[in-house]
Amino acid sequence: MIYADHNATAPMRPEAREAMLSALDLGATNPSSVHTKGRAARGVVETARMQVGGAIGSRAADVIFTGGGTESDALAVQGVVDALDGRCTLIVSAIEHEAIAKSAAHSGAPVQTAYVTAAGIVDLEDLRTRMANWDSEAHGTPVLCLMLANNETGIIQPVAEAAAIVRDAGGLTICDAVQALGKIPVNVGLLGVDYLSVSAHKIGGPQGVGALWHRAGAPLKAILYGGGQERSLRSGTENVAGIAGFGAAVEAAVRDLPKYAALAKYRDAMEARLKAEGDVVVIGEDSPRLAGTSNFARAGFRAETQVMALDLAGICVSAGSACSSGKVKRSLVLMAMGASDALAESAIRTSFGWNSEPADFDGVANAWLEAARRTVLKEKV
Ligand code: PLP
Repeated sequence: MIYADHNATAPMRPEAREAMLSALDLGATNPSSVHTKGRAARGVVETARMQVGGAIGSRAADVIFTGGGTESDALAVQGVVDALDGRCTLIVSAIEHEAIAKSAAHSGAPVQTAYVTAAGIVDLEDLRTRMANWDSEAHGTPVLCLMLANNETGIIQPVAEAAAIVRDAGGLTICDAVQALGKIPVNVGLLGVDYLSVSAHKIGGPQGVGALWHRAGAPLKAILYGGGQERSLRSGTENVAGIAGFGAAVEAAVRDLPKYAALAKYRDAMEARLKAEGDVVVIGEDSPRLAGTSNFARAGFRAETQVMALDLAGICVSAGSACSSGKVKRSLVLMAMGASDALAESAIRTSFGWNSEPADFDGVANAWLEAARRTVLKEKV
């Protein structure tokens, strides 16, 4: 089997598994307990906090563990809206993951869209003009939601530039870095954002664990109330083993950044073959992209047909984002980039990661071309 769906979830790294097993072996442990076992669990959580903080260039103290990327996004969006008593406007990029887009829609705050260009990159000129004319009396604090790397296309956003524009207008920036962590360097200071969300399972950690970093002093209110864990910003007994796995995974992912970057060579070779022999269009080809992501389309060859054909050949890929791939629908991300219906309906995402081999890229190209020859490229056989 070839697993080319790392952006949906990555296989667990051995380091994460080991860290989780040793945390589980601590037995009954609640990090809030003051006895010996509780203190051992606290140690595990705080070590992981340092590992996550270290990976994103932040103080450990500013990292809040959550139940995953979706919860981190929800905490950032709702937490800032509530902290500002709703006196803000969310400016949500047109390519955000639903965890951000739907949290914004349900937040009670007004929402504007930050448009992207045909290259899949947020339109900085438009943002600059909007911020230059921002009426805080009427619209409150502008809060930009801009992801660092897109889950479907892998296109990397100019977050530092966008955050600077918004900051100069007295605004704040929430950055969903779920797909960027462990794939490109992520540094909260260099990005100049105020909130940044990450998730363990996209980098070889366990599912159901994530973190939200927030700049010290940035407005943020809890969305869960209870025992006051995580400095009262995320109540609930910590998932000790999951957090341990996250810490170990993030350390390994940062160590492996050069290995991940090297995937671009094989990705490009795969795309070159698909373009030459399969008439595909590579989405965002000329934009900065994650090295292991390739989203390509062949008009007339429906995405679900491609996904099924590859599945039969023992290859796991997605149509669009994983969340929408169960019920294949046209990609909103590609629509936002101005792609035609025909293209948006025929785009699939292949995503490679920490345990991908050069042969995996050839395997995907061979199987895809074989399926295309049977289905849409008959004339070429
Ligand atoms: N944000 C992005 C960009 C994602 O790709 C995902 C997962 O698909 C999420 C948020 C949600 O993360 P999680 O699955 O940990 O809830």
